[in-house]
Amino acid sequence: MTKTMRAVQVPRAGGPFEIVEREVPEPPAGWVRIKVEACGICHSDSLVKEGHWPGIQYPRVPGHEVIGVVDAVGPDVARWKSGQRVGVGWHGGNCGYCDNCRRGDFFACSVALLTTGIDFDGGYAEYMIAPAKALASVPNELAALDSAPLMCAGVTTFNALRNSGARGGDTVAVLGIGGLGHLGVQFAAKMGFKTVAIARGKDKEPLARKLGAIDYIDSQAQDPAEALTKLGGAKVVIATVTNAGAMTAVLGGLGPNGVLMVIGAAGPLSVDSILLIGGQRSVKGWYSGTSIDSQETLAFSASAGVQSMNEVFPLERAADAYERMMSGKARFRVVLRVGRDH
Ligand SMILES: [Zn+2]
Ligand SMILES: [Zn+2]
Repeated sequence: MTKTMRAVQVPRAGGPFEIVEREVPEPPAGWVRIKVEACGICHSDSLVKEGHWPGIQYPRVPGHEVIGVVDAVGPDVARWKSGQRVGVGWHGGNCGYCDNCRRGDFFACSVALLTTGIDFDGGYAEYMIAPAKALASVPNELAALDSAPLMCAGVTTFNALRNSGARGGDTVAVLGIGGLGHLGVQFAAKMGFKTVAIARGKDKEPLARKLGAIDYIDSQAQDPAEALTKLGGAKVVIATVTNAGAMTAVLGGLGPNGVLMVIGAAGPLSVDSILLIGGQRSVKGWYSGTSIDSQETLAFSASAGVQSMNEVFPLERAADAYERMMSGKARFRVVLRVGRDH
């Protein structure tokens, strides 16, 4: 008798989430099967739900913030064994031999770029299969439900910060205190940056300070660029918001050689070229990271005590959980509890 599992799939672009019974998949060569324990819901899941990703094959199971346990190992897989705790994030794989891969720019693979929950089924299911190359080892101290968002929101902010050029003691501002930003403030503080949080209104100040910010700028009450300049100017601003105007407004608060690191998908962004030239400032985007970046995000989070704040829903309420995430009101990430026994 074939073993079946519950999965939540999107039947077609723009279609509703469906809870279905499916056969538990067998891992092909180079892949493993994972018993999923938790899967975060990310705004990028809307690419699957709404069909904004070219060439996507339906039905598709979304989910790229996965924590679980290796349950079966396909042929030709070194290192990974059944029973190991693993995470899977956005970057599902790359060819390893195209020019971009040979330069180490795996995110830009031009031959076989694989995205979890888009090119193959993701973590809104009791089991999933993933390429062994996509696996990150999960430290024992991290609980699955707590840490699933570290596999996308976490690695994106952590990796953007550690590749920003800022050094310990530099002033780093985090623009936006939401799903990405509440992690960004913690990572920045634990990395030893003078961490400034920027958000609209007063209500997020106590939380931002609790997470490690030493200054808070209310961008409704004051000009955030002026306020940053008064603090000496930022070496880096990590822009986590989805509002391009809010990014434009902080540019003048970058110090000499300062960098605006953009990780919030905000569409076209207006930048004053005089500000770039005068201060040798720059604007840069950052892709989340590969499996080793995720693994280092998890390890850093375990040792430094960085935690995602999550609202948890059971798998069968994936539709409600997704709506909650899309409403922008969740504090701060939404996570599906998938297994029954934890
Ligand atoms: Zn994501
Ligand atoms: Zn490649």
